[in-house]
Amino acid sequence: MNIKTIQAQGYSIYFNDEGTSFINQLLVEKKPSKLFILVDDHTNEHCLPMFLSSLCTDIPLEIIEIESGEPHKQIDTCVQVWYALSELGADRKSLLINLGGGMVTDLGGFVASTYMRGIDFVNVPTSLLAMVDASVGGKTGVDLGALKNLIGVINNPLGVVIRTEFLDTLPANELRCGMAEMFKHGLIYSESYWQKMCSLNELSVAALDELIYESVLIKNSIVTQDIGEQHLRKTLNYGHTLGHAIESYCLQNPDRECLLHGEAVAIGLVLSSYLSVKELGLPLSVANKVKAVIGEFFEKQFFTYEEITDICQLMRFDKKNVRGNVHFVLLEAIGKPKIDCIVPYEEIYKAFEYYLEEV
Ligand code: NAD
Repeated sequence: MNIKTIQAQGYSIYFNDEGTSFINQLLVEKKPSKLFILVDDHTNEHCLPMFLSSLCTDIPLEIIEIESGEPHKQIDTCVQVWYALSELGADRKSLLINLGGGMVTDLGGFVASTYMRGIDFVNVPTSLLAMVDASVGGKTGVDLGALKNLIGVINNPLGVVIRTEFLDTLPANELRCGMAEMFKHGLIYSESYWQKMCSLNELSVAALDELIYESVLIKNSIVTQDIGEQHLRKTLNYGHTLGHAIESYCLQNPDRECLLHGEAVAIGLVLSSYLSVKELGLPLSVANKVKAVIGEFFEKQFFTYEEITDICQLMRFDKKNVRGNVHFVLLEAIGKPKIDCIVPYEEIYKAFEYYLEEV
């Protein structure tokens, strides 16, 4: 497959060498007064040296480091970055490059969108999740305490640069989180992409490059067809209603190990596939395949009846509920999602039973 630049709504997403050329060309054309690179402690160590070695410029450059991890995706961190920009002499002609996972690109995009009423920024995602998911759609922002992504604006970067070589240092559990979203993209949009993802274990690195590219194409196609987030874009929530509730339950419960977002979404994908069988007649063989493929990559988690009850309670707080009803995205077939499905609670208990049974 020929990996080409993807035209998103209002900006472009460049891959590998073309991304490097894009940034160097941008610096020549825009001549920013100063260049700022936002990193977290991990991307400072693992990604910054490679990124700097590809830069070809004599524009003055400053590095701003923040602490890694979702708990730091808060307004306090933005305040630190705004101060750093101001003290280091950032003006309206400065350019901010966000080099990191989705936490850095979301927070850095928000900081750039608000500093001096908005300065230019470029996103260079370094995690798989940030490449295949956070790179598209122009959403920037931070959490408000435990409330995810409550504060933010939609604003586009000048461009996004995806260099898959950054993934060499990404921890395996973080890699899997991105894969959960890629599996989702196949299930909601493309049977052929789902089939390719199913053979991921036997694939080469070059094949992974193509899968990332195709995943970005899918998300971009969904987002550009539904700018107002009315219908198609809601399908991106497949597996997330239950996934978010499971993630929050584990976070709030000291007896349980915390699950990363993608690990919880992976469980959500299996549960939603079972619910799709029951509610929309998705063939059981498809749900079994989803369970088997997810089982190859993600360790199984066990939940008691009481825990499932608590998880169901948490779903009542989902931002996407309408008039108190929990709305699920389910599948009629692979690539044929249906939004706003309401599911009887007993079915959710059965879905967990199904998830725990061997295939
Ligand atoms: P993250 O940025 O916290 O990265 C996960 C971990 O991987 C961090 O410890 C980070 O330092 C580390 N890391 C990143 N790249 C690395 C590399 N190449 N080598 C070594 N370590 C590396 O989180 P994430 O999983 O990338 O993204 C999750 C965030 O993205 C959430 O805040 C979520 O809300 C947001 N998100 C945004 C959108 C959007 O549309 N804007 C979409 C999906 C998710």
